[in-house]
Amino acid sequence: VPQKNHSLKEGCQLAARFYHHLLMHTEQGREAYNYARSARNVSEEAMRHFQIGFAPSEREVLSLLFKKREFDLSEMEEADLVQRREDGRGPFDRFNRRLIFPIWDMGGQPIAFGGRALDEAPSAKYLNSRETPIFKKNEVLYAYHLARPAIRKRKFVVLFEGYMDVVSAWMAGVDNGVATLGTALTGKQAQLIRRLSDQVTICYDGDSPGEKAAIQNAETLEANGCNVKIAPIPADRDPDDYIREQGARAFMENMIEGAVSVLSFKMNAYKKDKNLQRAGDRKEYIEWVLEALAKISSPVEREFYLKQLSDEFSISLEALKQEQYRMYQRVR
Ligand code: ATP
Ligand code: MN
Ligand code: MN
Ligand code: MN
Repeated sequence: VPQKNHSLKEGCQLAARFYHHLLMHTEQGREAYNYARSARNVSEEAMRHFQIGFAPSEREVLSLLFKKREFDLSEMEEADLVQRREDGRGPFDRFNRRLIFPIWDMGGQPIAFGGRALDEAPSAKYLNSRETPIFKKNEVLYAYHLARPAIRKRKFVVLFEGYMDVVSAWMAGVDNGVATLGTALTGKQAQLIRRLSDQVTICYDGDSPGEKAAIQNAETLEANGCNVKIAPIPADRDPDDYIREQGARAFMENMIEGAVSVLSFKMNAYKKDKNLQRAGDRKEYIEWVLEALAKISSPVEREFYLKQLSDEFSISLEALKQEQYRMYQRVR
């Protein structure tokens, strides 16, 4: 129903403008502005570029604006911007006391929102719009339309986990970043990326869910024709933390230019779970790598990893190759 979707989009557009205005220009938005500016280091330029906003504590601010502008409130409810009360009394705003990140469609129309709580440990740190007729979470990448020109120019994409990572990276000069909305990357999203570039650097959080998601999403991207590298974000840091602590230049050099192959990343991840001082773990690890290497079609690349293994464990290349041959025989 194009007419209806049109008005849902109009509602989102008005909400994005209104929330942004409140953050940038009002007393009501001052606390959130200070949070963004001081606690999170977000520049005014970045606030404007990403149209960051603030949904205030009072719960009938946006609803009132919709009423004044004669928007159909049941449609705004469908856009997940307002909610109806249990007792049937008038609707109230879906987001309150949150920093607001508009989420756009490919053409740059706001279609949903992510809201970050200003306080630590509230009910949920992030609250995102539910799926609506105009927002299918699995088909959207955060900041896609903003990053598109830079992706074309730089010929690669950087994939992040969170909104804040995209914003921080942009301020650090990495303007070709997009983010999944806290979920595993779908084939559809991989296709959206592939459409712009087949070179992807995954820059996920350094915690264990981030590491797992990086590996899984790398495989999805590879299955969709992309060539993938993964940034070696330190344990328990995320890209936003890294930039704040180490600076833009270190981020560019060590994380973006220093991103490693998916296999190297997997090798490091595997090693973290093992104690390679122990012969059993060492054998398992070496066999696992040799098996992974068997899937690499480029002899040069294969040799590169073999050499690395050989150096790391002081095993001759010859012995590693023999071992690989023996494994191959066994599989057959
Ligand atoms: P911050 O730096 O503001 O603390 P973050 O981006 O590092 O937040 P993560 O916990 O790493 O937060 O989550 C990454 C992304 O996952 C968020 O940007 C958001 O899109 C999504 N996300 C996280 N928690 C939730 C949640 N409770 N509900 C919905 N989405 C969430
Ligand atoms: Mn995370
Ligand atoms: Mn994070
Ligand atoms: Mn973070």
